[in-house]
Amino acid sequence: MPGQEFYEVDLTEEKDTLEKPEEETDNDDFDEICCLCRRPESVAGKMTRIQGNLSICRDCMQRMFDALNTADFSMDNMIEMGRMPNISMINLADLQGISPFPQKIKKKKKEEKPALEFDIHAIPAPHKIKASLDEYVVGQEQAKKVMSVAVYNHYKRVAADDSRDVEIEKSNMLMIGPTGSGKTYIVKTLAKLLDAPLAITDATSLTEAGYIGDDIESVVSKLLAAADNDVDKAEHGIIFIDEIDKIAKKRNTNQRDVSGESVQQGMLKLLEGAEVEVPVGASSKNAMVPMVTVNTKNILFICGGAFPDLDDIIKERLNKAASIGFKADLKDKHDKDENLLTKVLVEDVRKYGMIPEFLGRLPILFSLEALTEDMLVKVLTEPKNAIVKQYQKLLEMDEVNLEFEEEALHAIAAKAKEKKAGARALRAILEEYMLDIMYEIPKDDNIGKVTITKEYIEGKGGPMITMRGVMEEGA
Ligand code: ADP
Repeated sequence: MPGQEFYEVDLTEEKDTLEKPEEETDNDDFDEICCLCRRPESVAGKMTRIQGNLSICRDCMQRMFDALNTADFSMDNMIEMGRMPNISMINLADLQGISPFPQKIKKKKKEEKPALEFDIHAIPAPHKIKASLDEYVVGQEQAKKVMSVAVYNHYKRVAADDSRDVEIEKSNMLMIGPTGSGKTYIVKTLAKLLDAPLAITDATSLTEAGYIGDDIESVVSKLLAAADNDVDKAEHGIIFIDEIDKIAKKRNTNQRDVSGESVQQGMLKLLEGAEVEVPVGASSKNAMVPMVTVNTKNILFICGGAFPDLDDIIKERLNKAASIGFKADLKDKHDKDENLLTKVLVEDVRKYGMIPEFLGRLPILFSLEALTEDMLVKVLTEPKNAIVKQYQKLLEMDEVNLEFEEEALHAIAAKAKEKKAGARALRAILEEYMLDIMYEIPKDDNIGKVTITKEYIEGKGGPMITMRGVMEEGA
């Protein structure tokens, strides 16, 4: 037309800018939400953009189509019903202009997990591991040293996994020690220091697959749970199997040994390194539980047990050696040796009923000593979280000083020794004596100090109570 100017407009470009305003286009932090069910894109899946800058999820879209397909749109029916049955129709035109931009909510940011990588320099050296163990565990010098080196080597092996020239053997351990000597405690402390997931299980409940009891693979399941179901983390964790002596070969039995030798056989693959299918979040496999594969190649296995009567086997071996040749006169030398367990050899444990293949996969064998009375006193007072320190802290909150006479501590240790349960008995004994004190002291604000005496422990007297005024005078 004359006098009229024409402009060329690229409609596709305009459409794009209309639908995706500049600020919003690049913003990945926002999740679109469905205008019908209000679910965000991260939950409902991909959205379809409809008129009016609105989004609709596939489910709602499908529901709308289904409803339209099944509805009877004959005029008669519409008049009869007055409105369409079970369908609430949305006039998309009505929605136009409600929102100038697509409706969005802020996306939840996923936590980024750092990849598990083992840097050899990040692993504390054996002397540092031992020094940290020293802060918590009394005595057991040899055991702490052996474990520190074994753990260090284990993680070195994990770090050097790729090099194919020399393959380093796994440093799984077998720990022998009387009840209450600190087997579980050392492992727990170690795992805490290394920040490794730890699963503690009992060999008593394990049985061959298919029999009543826990499957052997359930130990890996527990580790996975301890690692918050993070397979990577679990594959570098520690599994402690206590009471391992309970799966010794049963002697003189004609029945199938489903909880003894078979369990040892079943554990061989696990100890060496195998891909194990384990249920996530449950201890037994069933159709309802999802499964994951965990490789046990880099899991450190520590087995522990009290091995009662093992000292007889050791004594027999030592006495036999002593009765031959020049040493014959020393025959009974070992009869009164309290720490015979420290002289344990693989052949003794084999004689006890552990099969050679099993022992071969636990190359580090060591023992813990029975705690003496002096060591028990140290357990009471020295570790970072010693029981006595805990009680002192509790009473400190009431502004009361708690002290123990040295003799009282020895009396408690002597009582614990009588119970033959090692350090395990200490807390129970102390609790018994502290109950009255913890009950009575808060009643009287004037009490400034309580001293536990030997007489109180032996039942011949009471604790020594000092009032605040007297304390200040004394000072
Ligand atoms: P077990 O050898 O039977 O596994 P535990 O390790 O469970 O014994 O010990 C029981 C408790 O006794 C631990 O929780 C810990 O408080 C204490 N304990 C045992 N041995 C020691 C030790 N050597 N040093 C410090 N505390 C110890």
